[in-house]
Amino acid sequence: MARPIYTAKLVRSRWLSDQTRHFEWQVEELDRFDFKAGQFISMLEKKDDGKNVTRAYSIASAPRGRELDLCLNRVPHGFFSNFLCDLTEGAEVHFHGPHGHFILRDPLHDSIFVATGTGVAPMRGFLQWLFAEEHRHAGKHFWLVYGTRYEKDIYYQEEFEALAAAHPNFHYEITVSRPGEAWKGRKGYVQVIVGEITQQLSQEQRHMADVYICGLNNMVTSVRETLIGLGVDPKHIIFERYD
Ligand SMILES: Cc1cc2nc3c(=O)[nH]c(=O)nc-3n(C[C@H](O)[C@H](O)[C@H](O)COP(=O)(O)OP(=O)(O)OC[C@H]3O[C@@H](n4cnc5c(N)ncnc54)[C@H](O)[C@@H]3O)c2cc1C
Repeated sequence: MARPIYTAKLVRSRWLSDQTRHFEWQVEELDRFDFKAGQFISMLEKKDDGKNVTRAYSIASAPRGRELDLCLNRVPHGFFSNFLCDLTEGAEVHFHGPHGHFILRDPLHDSIFVATGTGVAPMRGFLQWLFAEEHRHAGKHFWLVYGTRYEKDIYYQEEFEALAAAHPNFHYEITVSRPGEAWKGRKGYVQVIVGEITQQLSQEQRHMADVYICGLNNMVTSVRETLIGLGVDPKHIIFERYD
């Protein structure tokens, strides 16, 4: 059976930094677009030479009627990312999906979400879904460990800080690898913080906790190696690679 192709209309957007944009789309054919937080869609476009191009983008929101958010950055010389970043509101793009297995485990355990750059997109979806209803997150702890080179690329900071202020079981950690002089926060790479959190967990928590990692391949590999070196069972490490 042919998979359905939908039309996403860009209804709102804003720049999160000079190269990174937050998009809010409306699916034209549906009243409700069903997916699980963390999944991605495959967007479709034709290049000038007539070639069809497909790119995956993680949904940066929890299910919300027929709307979905994306968070993406311009890749130098990349076709699709620049095509999307140059769109104006009202533009339409075709896609299929939802796809993917980067979703919350059932049953849910204490969880560490680790992201760099736009890898924060599915984590935003997870957190919106988890904290929308008390019973989804009660009795468990969730960490978002976010890393970036420069402080200008800390996306959705106010949202996550507000969530952490409202919920003592949500912990938000930012680390910047090439900060400016004014930066007062953590410096370095995400795996250091992930290692610290893991070591603070009790033996039982460490045995049960799940770690979700999303971003570029090098980071995913480093975090996995750190965790496995600390005795975390690879079955509890769930990851999505963007490249
Ligand atoms: C499951 C999945 C989910 C994804 N979700 C997102 C998302 O939410 N937000 C987002 O911004 N991107 C996401 N990506 C990456 C996205 O699909 C594209 O790869 C990215 O936008 C580049 O496409 P492009 O056509 O602009 O560049 P291309 O023309 O494909 O590539 C240009 C050059 O950039 C390199 N490259 C490719 N991807 C990246 C990258 N992400 N960063 C740096 N260099 C790269 C390529 O090796 C190539 O040399 C996701 C990828 C996967 C597999």
